[in-house]
Amino acid sequence: MTEALKTNWTKEEVIAIYNKPLLELVYEAAQIHRLHHDPNKVQISSLISIKTGGCPEDCGYCPQAARYHTEIKVNELLPVHQIKAQALRAKQHGISRVCLGAAWRNVKDGEEFDQVLDMVRTVTKLDMEVCCTLGMLTENQAKRLEEAGLYAYNHNIDSSEDYYKEVISTRGFEDRLKTIDNVRKTSITVCSGGIIGMGEKIEDRCDMLRILANMTPQPESVPINALVAVEGTPMEDQEPVSIFEMVRMVATARIVIPRTQVRLSAGRTSMSPEGQTLCFMAGANSIFAGDKLLTTPNPDINQDKKMFEELGIVPQAPFEKYPKREVVDEENAHFHALGENPKWTRPAHTIERNEAAKEKGKIKL
Ligand code: SF4
Repeated sequence: MTEALKTNWTKEEVIAIYNKPLLELVYEAAQIHRLHHDPNKVQISSLISIKTGGCPEDCGYCPQAARYHTEIKVNELLPVHQIKAQALRAKQHGISRVCLGAAWRNVKDGEEFDQVLDMVRTVTKLDMEVCCTLGMLTENQAKRLEEAGLYAYNHNIDSSEDYYKEVISTRGFEDRLKTIDNVRKTSITVCSGGIIGMGEKIEDRCDMLRILANMTPQPESVPINALVAVEGTPMEDQEPVSIFEMVRMVATARIVIPRTQVRLSAGRTSMSPEGQTLCFMAGANSIFAGDKLLTTPNPDINQDKKMFEELGIVPQAPFEKYPKREVVDEENAHFHALGENPKWTRPAHTIERNEAAKEKGKIKL
């Protein structure tokens, strides 16, 4: 029988873990990692931006928000054949999971969502895990993605509930939780994590992990991102986080969410192979490959392959953790567009950092 996981963590307990002496923390995380995972296997995922830029949201870290003056080239939704070709190339490099990201506030029923469903069916039929990150989602839309064969839905909570208000004003933290709930009404696995280095306190990082760890079930995948401070966003002047902060975050995530796949996500270009090795030791077991992570730089796949060879790490095969979903073709689908118009929140509170950026002429009014 599988041992029940602890899902009643307090913030203080998580902070106490995060603040342990680093070597003790890594040792403890490495032991837990070995109970649930093969320590010499790391999943390689590829993130494809299927619709880039022009987003109406105001996430302070994101160069794709239409209101910030960034160098992003806006792209409409890419055609299915292009995604298939990119997925096939990724598969040849040992990549087992493809994440499809669209810069949308929420999913809207219609031609574009139908095109995404087609992408999910097409890539799943290539025997690859497909994850989508499309913004907020209704239960019916989640069920349509499930029928298309979707393996995972990504919806990050980004930070603690308190600090979330300092990052985004166009939607509330409760919208994130509601979308995750909608995904949980299907057999799609949940991918949810956050970003460090946005000016948050250690308490916020640990509270974010507490919220994820106390979900029942816990998310099957937890991406840990280090902010990539992009010029033109309100967070452009944030100092980078140190590798040891990343290691602490990974190790703490591994201890409190032991069965999850902990993903080293944005910010990997500034980590040395030695730093990444320490993260693998601490329980990270997934990386994103390819020279772009949506719109920010990422290490080249050949560099990653060399690092894996030196470390004796092998890529995780697709569907090793959870079985492949059955793909129901569109003509046999049970769930169809309902033309819903859900009322997601718009708190529209003032974020001081954004006001300062506005004064400097860095945010479009
Ligand atoms: S993170 Fe997503 S929702 Fe937020 S601005 Fe960027 S693309 Fe839009």
